[in-house]
Amino acid sequence: MRQLIAGNWKMFGRLTDVTPFAEAMRAAPAHVDLLVCPPFTLLERFATALEGGQMALGAQNCHANPQGAHTGDIAAPMLVDAGAAYVILGHSERRNDHGENNAVIRAKTESAIAAGLIPIVCVGETEGEREAGEAEHVVRSQLQHSLPPGFAGVVAYEPVWAIGTGRTPTEDDVKSMHAAIRAALAAQLGQDGAKIRILYGGSVKPGNAASLLALPEVGGALVGGASLKAEDFLAIANAA
Ligand code: PGA
Repeated sequence: MRQLIAGNWKMFGRLTDVTPFAEAMRAAPAHVDLLVCPPFTLLERFATALEGGQMALGAQNCHANPQGAHTGDIAAPMLVDAGAAYVILGHSERRNDHGENNAVIRAKTESAIAAGLIPIVCVGETEGEREAGEAEHVVRSQLQHSLPPGFAGVVAYEPVWAIGTGRTPTEDDVKSMHAAIRAALAAQLGQDGAKIRILYGGSVKPGNAASLLALPEVGGALVGGASLKAEDFLAIANAA
């Protein structure tokens, strides 16, 4: 399976950043799938700038309803309208900042799929949960409750304590978690579970990308901070 290198710009970026980034991505290697998930305000500009290139476009959240009286929210069909093909759902920053639980994430995932988007559903344990030996249990429970039946999309394993901290799990921990996620997907989705890419996310940088991306069952990376600089993002893509 081709690896997917996905950039999560979080709440960063201005209109003037779009063209230089998109131009730089034309030098990306052809053997990987590339994705950028900028803030909503940059989607349409990005859709135009990426035309004809290999990089896909995604958003970072959507509402569970296809439209309605929800001030300040954005629905999945609107993301499609703006040119997005993917949407990140259940990121730990959404779970924490907005109280999104597994049921909410599952409803959003269903809405994204219904609109024709590919959801990237994020799971991951906190530091306390890892220290308590609960990491795999927590992640399995997140998968069980946030993926709808027949889920077709991407899963991103992002240990909460590794996001934006410069810390990463050991290679053995990444290996065993990704194997546990693969087994959980097979149990939940049957044969289709084997088709799902499992990304690793949390402090992926040019310096550690090659070793993380070489691990079994790592189907790519979800990159936060290092996706904002075209040079770093390209270096990660080249490491795949
Ligand atoms: P980071 O963020 O690469 O800055 O650690 C990853 C993420 O939150 O998706």
